[in-house]
Amino acid sequence: MNEVKYKIKISSILMCSPEQVFLYWKGRVALYAILKSMGVQKDDEVIIPAFTCVVVPNAILYLGATPIYVDIRPETYNMDPDKVEPVITTKTKAIICQNTFGLSTNIEQIIKIAKKYNLFTIEDCAHGFGGHYNGKPNGSYCDAAFYSTQWNKPFSTGLGGILIVNNKDLIEAIKCLECYKIKPSVTEKLILTVLIFTRSLIINEFSYWVMVKFFRFLSKNNLIVGSNQGEELSGNKIPENYFKNISSIQIYAGLKKLELLDKVNLLRMKNAMDYTRILKVNKKVFVSEELFDNHLFLKYPLLVKDRELFFRIAEKEKIMLGDWFLSPIHPVLENLESWNFNHSNFPIATGISKQIVNLPTDTNENRKVLEFISRNISLIY
Ligand SMILES: *Cc1c(COP(=O)(O)O)cnc(C)c1O
Repeated sequence: MNEVKYKIKISSILMCSPEQVFLYWKGRVALYAILKSMGVQKDDEVIIPAFTCVVVPNAILYLGATPIYVDIRPETYNMDPDKVEPVITTKTKAIICQNTFGLSTNIEQIIKIAKKYNLFTIEDCAHGFGGHYNGKPNGSYCDAAFYSTQWNKPFSTGLGGILIVNNKDLIEAIKCLECYKIKPSVTEKLILTVLIFTRSLIINEFSYWVMVKFFRFLSKNNLIVGSNQGEELSGNKIPENYFKNISSIQIYAGLKKLELLDKVNLLRMKNAMDYTRILKVNKKVFVSEELFDNHLFLKYPLLVKDRELFFRIAEKEKIMLGDWFLSPIHPVLENLESWNFNHSNFPIATGISKQIVNLPTDTNENRKVLEFISRNISLIY
């Protein structure tokens, strides 16, 4: 029953019908289902931004297809649409565009190119649930879109994935895949329940830092149903039990969290405006106000000169600094060739991945973050 409720709630926010909504254990599984419904198979190519999460090229590789990267634009951290057409070949099947940090950009330009070559389009809205692009919800424009509800995404159910399909021709194929979904095990559900519950106990900054240490310990010792299993960071073989269904605990958590989403997103925007203001005044790199209407500000990107030092200072000052995109294929730091990635072809993404950190946007204490920025302004680009 809750599943129906959850789909109705999601579809009302995404302005689609509940029949267009499908649910999975993780966002990557939703992407895999989309690719499969599009018939992506051995030797096909799928175009993706050269600034993404490793699970995205993995889903492509698991189908025997090849991820083809496109460098990003420095001001948006999203795929440069002018660089898409040159990499299209007769093997190209689809293009994935991404809402990096919650920003949607150039979607219609990419769709136009896709139409010209008869390609499918997919929107990676892992950072963008609840945000908008030119007035319509993120995920409305492409043939299909997926969202993640993992710990750090716009709203969290611990782990979780949502798919919406806009192209009616794909619905049957996605429905057909439903019966292949594996049920999460009792243990997985139990661990996830405990993790969701402990997270909900984080009520102040002190408990946050205790938890950070606790979670680091757990994941180091493989005691966590974390977001990446070891094999997802090393190989291109599909992990066992990958194609997994959502569980009732995730649906329960999702229904609760969605109640708060509007409020959190307003807070994200307000904090982002303050960060922009202070960076602009100090002549640093900032997110342009022109992009604000299409931005969710899940995180606020910051480019710094000595990242290790910057992280050390932040931890000492108890600033919840994020570390996304330490690599163009986050979080893989070595052997990127295994993902068909060659640094020298993507100078912008590679350069930015050496400098980027991100500021929290859902904090109620942005004054602390602003003071931290001021004090360390000379370390920021
Ligand atoms: C988190 C993330 C995903 C995958 O989401 P999961 O739910 O963890 O599988 C995909 N793309 C991007 C850009 C992400 O940040």
